[in-house]
Amino acid sequence: MSVAAPISLPDEHSHEPANESRQAGRFRPVRNTALVGLQCLRCQHVYPLSLANDPCEACKADGVHVGLAASYGAGLPGDAIGPSHFPYAKFFTLGEGNTPLLASAELAGWAGVGRLNIKDESRNPTGSHKDRMSALGVTQALDFCAHTIVLASSGNAAVSAAHYAQAAGLACEVATYDAMPAAYAVKLTASGAKRHSFADNAGRWNFVRERACTPGFFALTNYHLPALGSSPLAIEGYKRIAQECHAQGVLPEHIFIPTARGDLAWGIYAGFRDMLQAGLIQKLPKLWIVEPFARLTHVLGGAPLHGSYAGHTDQFSTAGATVTYLQWQATTATGGGAVVVTDSVAREARRQMSRADISAELCAAAGLAAVRQLRDSGTLSSSASVLLILTASAADDPTWPDLV
Ligand SMILES: [Zn+2]
Repeated sequence: MSVAAPISLPDEHSHEPANESRQAGRFRPVRNTALVGLQCLRCQHVYPLSLANDPCEACKADGVHVGLAASYGAGLPGDAIGPSHFPYAKFFTLGEGNTPLLASAELAGWAGVGRLNIKDESRNPTGSHKDRMSALGVTQALDFCAHTIVLASSGNAAVSAAHYAQAAGLACEVATYDAMPAAYAVKLTASGAKRHSFADNAGRWNFVRERACTPGFFALTNYHLPALGSSPLAIEGYKRIAQECHAQGVLPEHIFIPTARGDLAWGIYAGFRDMLQAGLIQKLPKLWIVEPFARLTHVLGGAPLHGSYAGHTDQFSTAGATVTYLQWQATTATGGGAVVVTDSVAREARRQMSRADISAELCAAAGLAAVRQLRDSGTLSSSASVLLILTASAADDPTWPDLV
């Protein structure tokens, strides 16, 4: 496998929506008429659709900070993978999704399981799974007549959102760390985004929150503490990963997902949940949150959901000290759990992937190590069928190549 596909500019693509945006001004999304509001993940209370990404007020009064998700009215029976469970019938796209699903007998053997597949999200237009979220985020911004996308990220999400915003004719402001890796910073500058640099997470989120309160700005990522997750409509884009697995004929028993705040894990869970409710699958795969140090692991062991679980890691894309209701729900609803993979163990797994000609950012390689750890502990059987989500290649990872 090669490294991530190069970034494609809109006019290098033949996809209709991007061309449309050039020909007739900004792209005009078509909202799914079944989309009726935003629904609390915990108490099911439904709120009006909006650009804001705020917690459920009812649950907040109970001391639980819970985000909202897209809420759909009664769709057509059996239509779970159709437009009735996706926010937009027509959305801005640069061709993200439909990524390859690769089987690796070599890595299955190394990890000790029966079957191992890899969903290669590095093949998305800007090289990561974040493009699925950016496509819907840009669409929502256009739908609500926002002029600027704002987010906190120092990596893949920043590059992706900036690229999609530029292609859609929107401005983009990104709150980054001072120490943003050079590869991402260069791409951010090239896409015309405005970069605001901060020393810590609180500074980044305060900036995004201030912008989110200003008319015309749309905050794509979380800006609350306790953390919620990214924009509810945007993370619906990750549902397509589950739908694609189904279409590609792979229904694993276990899925391993590198996770910081749980957007990706929840989207994959929601996609399989929709298919289960529609009778398209018989049971949910177990979702395993792969984290560089114990966060959700602590929470599943009884620690508070809203605690701060700081740690240091080279797994750049999954760093952070927070746990969200999103990731808690994705694991507990599926019977999965959390797996801590240290940097040194992730590096060992990445060397193994390199030998199999697979390029992975360090946190994605941690997914392979997590499989082996659960096999060693007896949680997985030798015949287990597993899926890894390869969130991005090693191409821009500041820890690549390994020097130790
Ligand atoms: Zn609630």
